[in-house]
Amino acid sequence: MAAPPLSSSTNCFVEPATSPIFGGARKTGKFFEQPHLRILPALRRSQGFALKASMGSPGFTQQLNKSKLETLSKAEDRCDIFDILKNRFLSFKSKYIENVEQFENLAKAQAPKFMVIACADSRVCPSNILGFQPGEAFVIRNVANLVPTFESGPSEVNAALEFAVNTLQVCIILFPTLGIPNLIHFLVWVENILVIGHSCCGGIRALMSMEDDANGSFIHNWVIVGKNARKKTEAAASTLSFDDKCRHCEKESINHSLVNLLTYPWIEEKVANGKLYVHGGYYDFIKCSFEKWTLDYQGTKLEEDGRIAAKNKVLWC
Ligand SMILES: [Zn+2]
Repeated sequence: MAAPPLSSSTNCFVEPATSPIFGGARKTGKFFEQPHLRILPALRRSQGFALKASMGSPGFTQQLNKSKLETLSKAEDRCDIFDILKNRFLSFKSKYIENVEQFENLAKAQAPKFMVIACADSRVCPSNILGFQPGEAFVIRNVANLVPTFESGPSEVNAALEFAVNTLQVCIILFPTLGIPNLIHFLVWVENILVIGHSCCGGIRALMSMEDDANGSFIHNWVIVGKNARKKTEAAASTLSFDDKCRHCEKESINHSLVNLLTYPWIEEKVANGKLYVHGGYYDFIKCSFEKWTLDYQGTKLEEDGRIAAKNKVLWC
């Protein structure tokens, strides 16, 4: 039996016969499977193959020493993982092709109504949970979905806030219709900032468990942004277990981030003028429920302990 070349195990991205991006074959939504990529895992698991290979080619089996098998195994795993991603991308591409006009418009400009600030946790992707489609949400994710204050200085978060709130304004021009002689201009910008926290947040757990004088760790230096949420939690939930304190702080830190959003003058101005709304969201992936509330700017007394007033509370479950 001829052994497959080892090099084929790493050839994960062999393209099918060249076809134009919007070629007819792909319009069917059926994409090319590459059966040969599945051969090696099957062979590796097959003791029969090892026996036959041994009988047919002693020299070959001598070369398949332990280190090569390990290399082969790693290459297969890598190949399988990226095969999955490839198939998912091609599935996405079939939707792209079905909605090509929409994606061509998105290629020219984006006009998302939402900016979302969510945790980097792999279980809480906003697009999965809330179904945001391409162009609908400007998203930033960080450990524990924290927002530093304006005074904290440059950070990835406030750069994204500035871009979303101040820069991301799209001028939409409607051409005149009958009886309307002039062009109509609309400025479109992000109208909602949604901070999403979640259950079992490791970042909040780190915040709640860190020593006051701890330093040096990148995680510590980041989650310390939420120290006021921790203080409020300690004051309000001192008798609770550590786990319950963390749960309390997961929500407290969301409100803390909403308050910090208002420290940005250009955010507060838009919120005060009703051009921008800031919302909190809490995704409980144990109960699979989602709480949403909106900061009531008029009712919030920031000078009094920074506690927000909330309105429009809903629970989706
Ligand atoms: Zn988290």
